[in-house]
Amino acid sequence: MKKEALPRNLGVCRHCRVNEAKIRLDYARLSLCENCFVKFIERKVARTINEHRMIEKHDKVLVAISGGKDSAALLHLIKNVVPEIEVMCLHIDLGITGFSEVCRQKAEELAKREDVELMVVDLEGLLGRRLDQLASRYRKICSLCGLVRRYTLNRYGLAYGATKIATGHNLDDAVAILWDFYVKGDLLEALKFQPVTKLAHPKAIPRIKPLIGLTDFELKVYVDIKALPYTLVQCSFGRGSKLNRRKKLVESIESMYPAFKHTFLKSHVKRISPLLSSLPTSRSVDWRSCSRCGMPSKGDLCGMCRIKETLKKRG
Ligand code: AMP
Ligand code: ZN
Repeated sequence: MKKEALPRNLGVCRHCRVNEAKIRLDYARLSLCENCFVKFIERKVARTINEHRMIEKHDKVLVAISGGKDSAALLHLIKNVVPEIEVMCLHIDLGITGFSEVCRQKAEELAKREDVELMVVDLEGLLGRRLDQLASRYRKICSLCGLVRRYTLNRYGLAYGATKIATGHNLDDAVAILWDFYVKGDLLEALKFQPVTKLAHPKAIPRIKPLIGLTDFELKVYVDIKALPYTLVQCSFGRGSKLNRRKKLVESIESMYPAFKHTFLKSHVKRISPLLSSLPTSRSVDWRSCSRCGMPSKGDLCGMCRIKETLKKRG
């Protein structure tokens, strides 16, 4: 169990000074009751959305829901923090036995509960294969899955007329992803990871990460207080992944150095990225249009059409 979650007497809530505090946030040296915790999280998300101008009044937001806790919180928070905007959600059924069935079911329950229209796209329908079946052919199955997810969200987002795509990446994800880039010195890759990203292509929908300032722990507590449907089942390919190992490493640093994750992300976004993006070597990619599907592509064919082509040739 994480240090933050250990039961201890936390005294009275620091915000309302009435209720008993139930949640301890070491990084902020704050103990809150459930009510004040919910308000604290909602205010934080509103601040992130405003600070990075993630959502404006005219936006139609496509929320990517995986069936996990982060995207469950994401949909609920967007609906509550910016209730005036149009929202719909998309779930990609990847076809991973023992995982995708429960994810899809939770995504459906969540959309119903939040009263939001849900599109479900099947990987098998897109590629003629389940991810299970691709795992033996592709060594880097997690990269392939990421590519397919980004492509599908953009493609269906366009079909729906979405002006933004929201994903549930949180602070722990951000630091674990950035960690490797910094350690390897791959700063140009690190530069691509931002709260808001937009490729220089007319068919690329801007992507937003409204939960980037919230920890795994905060999101878990939030979805439990709100009793949102989600699953903790992990994908069999990602369970022992490098990313998960890095998350544990970062967590152990955080336990010795509270607010390490917040400091890391803040220096990435506010200090290092502005410096790097002014370098001549940081010029953005000249995005072309895929000759087959018209989606953004670095070469003649986009990544998705290249996968389709390979599968067709290999049978
Ligand atoms: P992950 O890379 O699994 O941590 O997922 C990051 C974010 O991508 C999630 O919070 C979702 O917003 C989105 N996402 C992941 N898997 C799916 C899926 N199967 N369908 C739709 N969105 C997804
Ligand atoms: Zn294509």
